[in-house]
Amino acid sequence: MVRKMPETGARRVVLLTGAGSGFGRLAAARFAGQGDKLALCDVNDSSLHSLAEELGGEHLIFPCDVSKATRVDRFFDAVIERFGRIDVAVNNAGIAHEQCRLADCDDELWSRILEVNLTGVFLCMKREIRQMQKQGAGTILNIASVAGVLGAPMLGPYCASKHGVVGLTRTAAVEYGRQGVRVNALCPGYSPTPLVAEMLRAGDEGMESRMTDRIPLKRMAQPEEVVDAILWLCSDQNSFMNGASIVLDGGLTAC
Ligand code: NAD
Repeated sequence: MVRKMPETGARRVVLLTGAGSGFGRLAAARFAGQGDKLALCDVNDSSLHSLAEELGGEHLIFPCDVSKATRVDRFFDAVIERFGRIDVAVNNAGIAHEQCRLADCDDELWSRILEVNLTGVFLCMKREIRQMQKQGAGTILNIASVAGVLGAPMLGPYCASKHGVVGLTRTAAVEYGRQGVRVNALCPGYSPTPLVAEMLRAGDEGMESRMTDRIPLKRMAQPEEVVDAILWLCSDQNSFMNGASIVLDGGLTAC
């Protein structure tokens, strides 16, 4: 037996962080639509309220700042109490920052980006792996970025955090593969979610065309295209991938 996922017909438990906006919100709706039971968290309370209204009562929707160990523990304790297992975990919560050259980046900005984007993934992975080891099965998808595999001028802290996520992904894949826990990363290029809308608002007029000019497809990904990839990477059809960092970038990293 290769996998010990839920019995055929049983509903999977899918945990997703940063579910209140962007990729996370769209993915939550899609997972719910295909019948998964969801454990969702976000740091933004108001987005969680509207998520609860949208998805109905059978899912766990929990306020949690993934950069804080005690909050993460509270979230995972609630997930296990409610559902008893985690079949799929998507570590998606993340933040970007205003553009700055490395030597000009504020130390506090550096710390905050690393806390949310890297420590947040680390804290969640620890709990996910421990639970999945007990189950003898489970799959983790970390949402990294093309900035996890390429340099990202003016986004040094973000770039370092996402390289870190790719490193954690590879390490965990090697350490836990034999126990039935698979760990992969998705590395999207730019996509017009609220995170990128904010970057564009803060940037100059030519910023968007500078972003897309470098991409062979000459456009950003639609958020739905990224979410299609998330859904497939977390599906039962994806059973042998482990330790991969999949770029979804319109050809940017092929240049
Ligand atoms: P978004 O801002 O629309 O959504 C991110 C969500 O994460 C928000 O709901 C936010 O409240 C939540 N969040 C932020 N900090 C948190 C914390 N400390 N604890 C819990 N939740 C927190 O952004 P998005 O574009 O959907 O980004 C999702 C992920 O995709 C991020 O990790 C981001 O780095 C990554 N990514 C985005 C793009 C892009 O172009 N949009 C490209 C590559 C990677």
